Amino acid sequence: MPEPRFHPDLPDPAADLSGQAAAVLEAVPVAMVVRRLADDRILLANAAFRDLEGVDLGTASDREQEVRTTAGEPRLVQLQDIPLRPLGLLLTVVHDLTQVRHSQQALRASEQRTEEEIRRLAYYDALTGLPNRAFFLEQTERALANAHRTGCGVALLVCDLDDFKRINDTYGHELGDDLLRAIAHRLHSCTRRGDILSRPGGDEFALLVPRIDRDGEILAVANKIIEAMTRPFVVRDRELHAATSVGIAVYPDDGEATGDLLKHADLALYAAKAEGRNRFQFFNPEMHLRVQQRTRLEAGLRRALDRGELSLLWQPQFSLRTGGLVGVEALLRWHSGELGEVSPAHFIPLAEETGLIHEIGDWVLRNACLQAARWRQRGGDCPRVAVNISGKQFSEPGLVERVMTALREAGLEPGCLELEITEGVLMHDAEHAQNILMTLRQGGVKVAIDDFGTGYSSLLYLRNYPVDRIKIAREFITDITTCANDAAIAGTVIAMANSLDMRALAEGVETSAQAEYLRALGCHEVQGFHFARPLPREEFEALLE
Ligand code: C2E
Ligand code: MG
Ligand code: MG
Repeated sequence: MPEPRFHPDLPDPAADLSGQAAAVLEAVPVAMVVRRLADDRILLANAAFRDLEGVDLGTASDREQEVRTTAGEPRLVQLQDIPLRPLGLLLTVVHDLTQVRHSQQALRASEQRTEEEIRRLAYYDALTGLPNRAFFLEQTERALANAHRTGCGVALLVCDLDDFKRINDTYGHELGDDLLRAIAHRLHSCTRRGDILSRPGGDEFALLVPRIDRDGEILAVANKIIEAMTRPFVVRDRELHAATSVGIAVYPDDGEATGDLLKHADLALYAAKAEGRNRFQFFNPEMHLRVQQRTRLEAGLRRALDRGELSLLWQPQFSLRTGGLVGVEALLRWHSGELGEVSPAHFIPLAEETGLIHEIGDWVLRNACLQAARWRQRGGDCPRVAVNISGKQFSEPGLVERVMTALREAGLEPGCLELEITEGVLMHDAEHAQNILMTLRQGGVKVAIDDFGTGYSSLLYLRNYPVDRIKIAREFITDITTCANDAAIAGTVIAMANSLDMRALAEGVETSAQAEYLRALGCHEVQGFHFARPLPREEFEALLE
């Protein structure tokens, strides 16, 4: 450090510290002490220094000291010794660090808060305040590492709300968000200390049970979740119902790594959904196989249209009164190059899930209408052609337009076309269903309810729908001659149809005894192997002749 020099014109401060220099030092608002180097004798302690108590001048320079002012205020100070050798003096400046320290602390606190905020954003879901996927994965890793050491079990439960999209679509996203919060709360009440409930996103929740101590524990949690969800939620003065499906994978049986466990829990969840939702399902290895099969099926179905692998069979419908042919149902067939003959009962649900049903459904409609128009052109009575419409086709907008387009392009009168709809479709959204049926009917198209009796609708319900025909499900026909219940149900449906000015058609009639019984009950029409199987076009045409 360069040694300070005083201006030569000034009086020697060491000579007279009580002079001008002393007065200056006295007025400086920084605490200072001037000592003689030779014997350490204090020549001057300025006013700022005298305001401090307990300063230890003996300590080494640079060390921080906690002292007080004469008024008792705590101060943090640091001494700086500046030797003025030519003068034989030692100037000690007492720096007050209190303020600096305070702002440092404040800064650190705010940094900490920012860090916490960043952490919160990175690890928690903003909507529900629950841990998010990243946090969940971290905790799962940790639980698995721990379980590996201790030998305990770990369970992952993944939940996916059933049909939540409908809530959002019906009531709007804000209410949907409120419901999600309420569900998060409810689910949280099903957990125990140490469990981690998270919301990885959307309408999904995931629960980590990091320690399973006894058998049946997970079963209890899963039951509790399903059970808790059955109680209605009240959100914005509305009573709402929600349900969830749950897939469960357990360490170490179902996988040892987080990724495997999650994948398996997802497969189990998928199975729970497929089995009808609002239930839980433990993972089992067969699920892998099923997924593989499904993937192959789906890939095949996507190509089926382009490859011309789809075709229609025609099953005649007869009048029980006259014995004449009154209609024909178009039944879809898929002959897959790789998989062989695949039943519609198998691939139609898949087509619905994947959305392929629209393309496939249009193909059926178009071809059925074209075929009917051709038969009609050949002269003679055209039996009405019945086309199956799946639930998904019915509930999405545009059905009426699709039907009308198919009719127009084929040049077919609407009265020759009948659409078969299952009762579940009517129950799902009654108002929508009524509107569509009304429009179709005004356009002249006929409507039949397929597989009647297998759904949940009551007979009384039928009154509300403009329907031409009720197809009594095969389930009731099979044992109609031996089972009094089935006979009673079939009889009631027929009577009801009569009184509502509808027709009753019995499906799956396989014996003449069944046909006779139905005739006695007053059933109008029949369809079934006893009369004719679903036939290729040529065979049906032979029958038409
Ligand atoms: P569905 O509409 O109830 O059709 C009647 C089913 O019963 C047909 O099976 C038919 O072959 C069968 N069947 C007819 N008579 C008898 C009988 O006497 N005994 C027995 N055991 N069965 C009989 P298929 O063709 O396998 O069709 C199954 C289901 O697939 C249909 O049930 C329908 O829901 C659906 N499906 C078929 N084609 C289409 C289509 O083009 N579009 C849509 N969306 N669904 C279709
Ligand atoms: Mg049908
Ligand atoms: Mg049917």
